[in-house]
Amino acid sequence: MHLIAIGGSDAGISAALRARELDPGCEVTVVVADAYPNFSICGIPYYVSGEVTDWRNLAHRSIADLEAAGLGLRLDTVARRIDVQGRKLLVTGADGREELLAYDKLVVGTGAMPVRPPIGGLAGPGSLGPGDGVHLLHSMGDTFAVMQTLESAAPASAVIVGAGYIGLEMADALTLRGLNVIQMEQLPEVLPTVDSQLGALVRGELASRGVEVLTGTTVQAVSRAQAAGDGRLRVDAVTASGDPLMRHAETVLVVVGVRPETGLAAGAGATLGVRGAIAVDRGMRTGLPDVLAAGDCVVTHHRLAGDTYLPLGTTAHKQGRVAGENALGGNREFGGSLGTQVVKIFDQAAARTGLRDHEAVAAGFDPVTVASEADDHKAYYPGSHRIAMRFTGDRATGRLLGVQLFGHRSAEVAKRVDIAATAIFHGMTVDAVSDLDLSYTPPLGSPWDAIQIGAQAWAGRARLS
Ligand SMILES: Cc1cc2nc3c(=O)[nH]c(=O)nc-3n(C[C@H](O)[C@H](O)[C@H](O)COP(=O)(O)OP(=O)(O)OC[C@H]3O[C@@H](n4cnc5c(N)ncnc54)[C@H](O)[C@@H]3O)c2cc1C
Repeated sequence: MHLIAIGGSDAGISAALRARELDPGCEVTVVVADAYPNFSICGIPYYVSGEVTDWRNLAHRSIADLEAAGLGLRLDTVARRIDVQGRKLLVTGADGREELLAYDKLVVGTGAMPVRPPIGGLAGPGSLGPGDGVHLLHSMGDTFAVMQTLESAAPASAVIVGAGYIGLEMADALTLRGLNVIQMEQLPEVLPTVDSQLGALVRGELASRGVEVLTGTTVQAVSRAQAAGDGRLRVDAVTASGDPLMRHAETVLVVVGVRPETGLAAGAGATLGVRGAIAVDRGMRTGLPDVLAAGDCVVTHHRLAGDTYLPLGTTAHKQGRVAGENALGGNREFGGSLGTQVVKIFDQAAARTGLRDHEAVAAGFDPVTVASEADDHKAYYPGSHRIAMRFTGDRATGRLLGVQLFGHRSAEVAKRVDIAATAIFHGMTVDAVSDLDLSYTPPLGSPWDAIQIGAQAWAGRARLS
């Protein structure tokens, strides 16, 4: 049995490790386009900030660890074509030579590519790139290019295009490095994956740290500045009211989301689904014989909303594990995502799980969303913080559908969103969250945990509506 995993990140490596775990006699090859298998790209902002001092520390496992687990690594090797009928994979190796690799089962984990938005100066003849201080950010290669700019050009200012979670983490990181950061976001509020009421709190944190936040601002062009002094790059944008807006900076980072990397699978005849991602069943099978797929390149099964596209590292790990098991003849199913996520912005954290109000409507629910606040632990014990909460539940059934939180990074926002995620995963009602037996000691919590206070606020309000 020879399993080939294409892609050396969360999905591909998880599939490969699971296969070896289940059958140590199975031959497993991982084909990786670059030389950085099993790196935690989620940690890139903390290497850029300087908090993680050596890029090698971002490796979940070293190459030696992976080889010790029995993985055959083909680094700097690009998968070019899948011959589904012949069960062969055409690759180009580091030396540029083509080779056909025979497989019994194939797991496609080609991940995602950063979106390059239609901004003048980013594509076409004479376009700007890393050498000019203009960057996209996804891979370790991108990271080294950003670090090269930061270390050789020592920029004093940066424009970040995009205020999703990666854009925010990078605003935090570059500010920590001492750069003046200007963040431009075309939507009306930052962190558009949470309700604007919480996004506004995130924006407040950015502003209090000196980040110039320009929402409702669509970047139209990046060009070389004519006069030296303010910064070597000029960023032209237009505001929501149609007024032109211009800023200078010495480096520009474009982080506006990702798209699934599906060329290889599509070329082999795989069906594509939501947002052009590879369609898979819950067992991560593509429908092509002996070809499975997992991670950011596939459609995500959402437990409440059905098929969607939700590229997250947590999901890629789980799907990869399922794919690795099923490649060996198993019958595992991916349990489904709730889009549970958390982001640290300076000293605050924002988190969400499940559905927001408009998403719940789209999924066929009759949602009510209620805002509330609670202390993270008893206020008489030093260091307590308020947590802002938004609970969404179904009016008819009382089922918990979604929770969004914002609070200090020490307020255990991540733990609390995970309680909500567990409750939603198992179909609990909002009322039942109030019954959960959660831990309590005054320095760390309250007899009613913040999450239960939010649940009670929802139940009280929902009864009246
Ligand atoms: C800066 C940043 C921060 C993030 N933070 C978080 C976070 O905090 N929490 C979270 O859950 N998620 C986070 N994510 C998202 C998370 O990293 C991704 O969801 C996850 O890496 C997806 O894993 P993947 O294996 O599906 O794909 P990818 O990580 O995209 O990897 C794809 C792999 O396939 C290889 N490849 C592609 N095409 C070929 C080919 N033709 N031949 C050979 N190899 C190929 C690539 O080289 C790479 O090894 C973050 C992402 C970034 C960029």
